[in-house]
Amino acid sequence: MDNRAQQKSKPDATLWVVATPIGHLGDLSPRAQQLLADVPIIAAEDTRVSQKLLPPRSQPVQWFSLHEHNEADSIAKLIGRLLEGQGIALVSDAGTPLISDPGYRLVKAAHDHDIQVSPIPGPNAAIAALSAAGLATDRFHFEGFLPAKKSARQTRLRALAERVETQVFYVPARDLVPVLDDLSAVFGPERTATVARELTKQFETVHRASLAELKVWAEADPNQQRGEAVVLTAGAEPDDSRAMIEPAALAIELAKELPPARAARVLARLSGMDRRDAFARIERLRQT
Ligand code: SAM
Repeated sequence: MDNRAQQKSKPDATLWVVATPIGHLGDLSPRAQQLLADVPIIAAEDTRVSQKLLPPRSQPVQWFSLHEHNEADSIAKLIGRLLEGQGIALVSDAGTPLISDPGYRLVKAAHDHDIQVSPIPGPNAAIAALSAAGLATDRFHFEGFLPAKKSARQTRLRALAERVETQVFYVPARDLVPVLDDLSAVFGPERTATVARELTKQFETVHRASLAELKVWAEADPNQQRGEAVVLTAGAEPDDSRAMIEPAALAIELAKELPPARAARVLARLSGMDRRDAFARIERLRQT
């Protein structure tokens, strides 16, 4: 383990946040392998899954399981070990811990106790999918998992529909068809999107098309409904009519020219402002 200039706690008493493969075992970095061979304690989401990654070790390792049902108890024990001066590696079943995976409360507790936290970066399904999706990457919104129920999922999608940056969703592939159906209904069937499924694995698929085409394609091939997938959507086209008009200036002109209710209605329509807020603003302007 390397020594850095600014250590908060003893170098060995570090919480290492270790990324592990999302499929291909060759993606476990040499640094992660070295750490997993040396560190005395590993906190894992499912110890049986993570045991398969373990390189040969000279000393036995102590495993802790860390999942939502035992989190509070496990965190207290793990923080105790760190404060005693032992190093701990945190891993999840696949990819980078904390990214739609457990670990946030442990990492926060470590910071609260002034314990050094250090990432060992590596695989992550969202970033791998973005790198191959053929969609803009200068800005993106990571949404993670959508609600499982259709009505809640559509409500959430409606709140996201106008975002202009690429959006990234984690989707169990068995839900691919209903999720593409909802995306198509809410974002519009013409919106470009990419399905990145089973990345780094034998049946890896990266397919970019319109949402309507993707839905037909996934429906027609049951193989596309197996495994794990990331769905990425292109951003919404910016609404130029809204971008060009400064709402404050528009409100002043409308308040002068139209009766209050009509002025508020036009302001809300052109600016995207809530109708009641628009009315309140027009009323304030008429009183000044
Ligand atoms: N922590 C992980 C990471 O860094 O990406 C994500 C864990 S989350 C519980 C699992 C979800 O990640 C899956 O449902 C899928 O959306 C996505 N995922 C994981 N592995 C994948 C892969 N090999 N190909 C495509 N998506 C994957």
